[in-house]
Amino acid sequence: MTPLAPYAVSEATSRGRTHDEDGPAYRSAFQRDRDRIIHSAAFRRLEYKTQVFVNHEGDMFRTRLTHSIEVAQISRTIARALGLNEDLVEAIALAHDLGHTPFGHAGQNALNACMHDYGGFEHNLQSLRVVDLLEVRYASFPGLNLTYETREGILKHCSRANARGLGPLGERFLNGSQPSLEAQVANLADEIAYNNHDVDDGLRAGLLEIDTLTAAEFFREQYETVRARWPALVGRRIVHETIRAMINRQATDLLDTSRAAIDAVGPESVDDVRGHRMALIRFSAPMLEQHRALKQLLRQKLYRHYRVFRMSMKAQRIVKDLFDAFFNTPRALPHDTQRRIEERGGGESERARLVADYVAGMTDRFAIAEYRRLFTADALT
Ligand code: MG
Repeated sequence: MTPLAPYAVSEATSRGRTHDEDGPAYRSAFQRDRDRIIHSAAFRRLEYKTQVFVNHEGDMFRTRLTHSIEVAQISRTIARALGLNEDLVEAIALAHDLGHTPFGHAGQNALNACMHDYGGFEHNLQSLRVVDLLEVRYASFPGLNLTYETREGILKHCSRANARGLGPLGERFLNGSQPSLEAQVANLADEIAYNNHDVDDGLRAGLLEIDTLTAAEFFREQYETVRARWPALVGRRIVHETIRAMINRQATDLLDTSRAAIDAVGPESVDDVRGHRMALIRFSAPMLEQHRALKQLLRQKLYRHYRVFRMSMKAQRIVKDLFDAFFNTPRALPHDTQRRIEERGGGESERARLVADYVAGMTDRFAIAEYRRLFTADALT
């Protein structure tokens, strides 16, 4: 393994775990975090959760599981080149979407609306809640008891109101400090991964056309380079070569720009990184502009495509109806969730949070099945 740079997160300077544990015998603390994430139930459920395309639409599309693995791959490449902690970026990348609801952003928006009077719903905060609380596996503590640094990376965004209740982990959202470089890498690797695979999946689904995408400068440049190099290339190969070139261009730009920013600031420790007023992992200004333009095009042409919109409408209705049914009639919940509500003995707010946990944990297909079981007359079991 490449030696860690002085500004990387290391075990020696880690802020440790919430509940004390003996260190692992032959793994690093961050490898252990990654391993705990891989063995969690929430991680397995990522296979049947999607962001744009719902799971039953086809086996060829990304799921949140394959998305998370792609984010881990890009993160590790960048981390290794910068002398950062690869085990940590991998753990963050694999865990970053654990809190997502079924049906991607449509599901999250619906659940957030349901939780309006009870503190709202944020998927990043929910990812943290999954690893801190909702996974029930270990004898001595709730959740996975991950290191501070992995948890810091998982919490990519957070509202100020929620940050106030999070202690040291929430501070950076209040005082404008930064997370570790590993967290910053995983964050931007997420952007690189989803922008590119949404182009790929959108083309595969027939919701996007090459001619539409060439309106975005970044796509057009890579596409034309590929065509100039292999004029006879057609079909999926030209798409793959273009996407491969896009990922490579973005990762290379990110690496070069970040390395220059790190060299200019000269951080000597993670605390120097955290104390700096700006994120040091970043795209160059022209790349950021191109990246944004492509995102904008995807928003208009893919995420707002009527077929995606119809699916989102349906998804929102499913999530809302499930939430309302369980919130108003907790007896319809499975026994263990009912018991948890009774044990807490809390008021409406606590009940809403536990129902939101239950609904958010569902996969797309489980939510659809629950909806059928609850609301259609031909499925009474
Ligand atoms: Mg993601």
